[in-house]
Amino acid sequence: MWGVIATWEMAAEGVHLASEKLKNGASAADALQVAIEDVENNPEFQSVGFGGLPNEAGIVEMDAAFMNGNTFAVGAVAGITDGKNPIAVARKLSSETFNSFLVGAGATAYAKNNNFKMQNMLTDDAAKKWQERVKEVAKNNLSPYDGHDTVGVVTLSGDAMTCGTSTSGLFMKKPGRVGDSPLAGSGFYVDSQVGGACATGLGEDLMKGVLSFAIVEKMRAGLTPQEACDTVVYDFSEKLAKAYGKSGAMSLIAMDHQGNWGVATNVEFTFCVATKNLAPTVYLANPGANGTTVIQAITTK
Ligand code: ASP
Repeated sequence: MWGVIATWEMAAEGVHLASEKLKNGASAADALQVAIEDVENNPEFQSVGFGGLPNEAGIVEMDAAFMNGNTFAVGAVAGITDGKNPIAVARKLSSETFNSFLVGAGATAYAKNNNFKMQNMLTDDAAKKWQERVKEVAKNNLSPYDGHDTVGVVTLSGDAMTCGTSTSGLFMKKPGRVGDSPLAGSGFYVDSQVGGACATGLGEDLMKGVLSFAIVEKMRAGLTPQEACDTVVYDFSEKLAKAYGKSGAMSLIAMDHQGNWGVATNVEFTFCVATKNLAPTVYLANPGANGTTVIQAITTK
């Protein structure tokens, strides 16, 4: 069996490319990297990689992670700048015994020293949006943080699973701010014998629930990916609503080791899936009644 599931419609082309690779016997890790790099490389996607929206100081700081579900190896970067493909750096770091999670200048230096492609990640378009936002926020006292998304991907190839994430985090975040995306358990988790999960949404809230790990553990206990996502996401979102009066946006995707998949979300959410039995498809998900999720296909490739 093979399969790939990814957060957001922006991953449609990446999922298509990954599915072609998986069909031809590529490893779960190679397919995952292809899917995420496609999103990182596209300047039209303003929350990941090149073209990502910058922090308060006008600098694009990116977070990414890679996990191997056979060995549980994790590699991650947070606050990396100028690295063209943070997911590639994270994947390489997953082979390090020590120093496998690097932040800021250390992460950027590692990328440079290991000959990863470096480039200025701030596009003219993103710089313009930042200048406008700085003015708007000063004038109207607005919350600056609208505009964020993470590409999160889970892949399955035979007996092997991987997962990974990449994001420029919250637009206008404080320099040094890190969300859930590079944190194992919160932004992602995978065990090849069970399945994997990834998150997107407000990192500050996602981190409170360690939701990706929670979903994998529910699948381990026998729930389907859809049941696991529904149980974990809606229970936790409700807990936050009780504690704070509201919950931040949270959308989780999951795939099990047989290629079954599920998602749950407390906001409108798009995602992409392809498996041996399913042509690449983009879906729209919304929270439904009584802790369920309403899912409809919006495109098929
Ligand atoms: N979870 C990411 C973060 O908080 C952003 C997102 O996925 O929307 O950095």
